[in-house]
This record gives sequence, structure tokens and C-alpha cells, in this order.
Amino acid sequence: MTADIKYCCPQMDIGLNASRQGRGFAVAVTTAPAFHSGLLFVFEARSVDAADESRLDGQHDIPIALVYRVCIQYCPWCGTRLKAHYARYIHELEIVENLMNLSSMPLPEA
Ligand SMILES: [Zn+2]
Repeated sequence: MTADIKYCCPQMDIGLNASRQGRGFAVAVTTAPAFHSGLLFVFEARSVDAADESRLDGQHDIPIALVYRVCIQYCPWCGTRLKAHYARYIHELEIVENLMNLSSMPLPEA
């Protein structure tokens, strides 16, 4: 599915194609009309496999983040401006719908 994409660097190839369900990092792509950005790239770092998350429910008395997410505009490895580089591959990229509820954020008033 992503064979036709020319990645900005090998690390982003790994990040965009990594499983978002397993421990480690991945880069997700979503859309967020509220940001007027078209594509929005989100760096994710998961501490626990998604399949094991339920094992931690209610098991501790301090808040724990199982997944950290941060929106990024530039490739963290090579500095490429992501939207400019990957917009041409919008039909090849896997778009995660409503990631972090960004798609349902209200549009700012003009
Ligand atoms: Zn890169």
C-alpha cells in the first residue's frame, strides 16, 4: 500500500509503517479541519502493547500514560516539512480517522 511513497528518510519509512498497537514509536497521519492543515502528523510512543492495556486498568493509584502523542510538522530525523513532502501521497498514506478527537474539534470562528 505504501510501496509508491518516496519517504523523506529511512527512519520515517519505519515510523509511518510501524504497528501502532505494539510498544515503541510510530508516526500516525490524520486530518484535522480545525487546524486547516490537511494532513496532520502525530508522533506516538507506546509504552505497553495495546493488547495488554486492559491488564493495567485499575492496577495502580497514580496516573500512567500508556501512549504519548505529539503533533509534528517536521520530520524528527531529517527535518523535512512533512505536509509539504507527503501531501502528494495522500491516497497512499494510511489516514487514522479521528485520532485524539482532532477531526471533531470545532473550527475556529473567523
Ligand atoms: Zn525524514
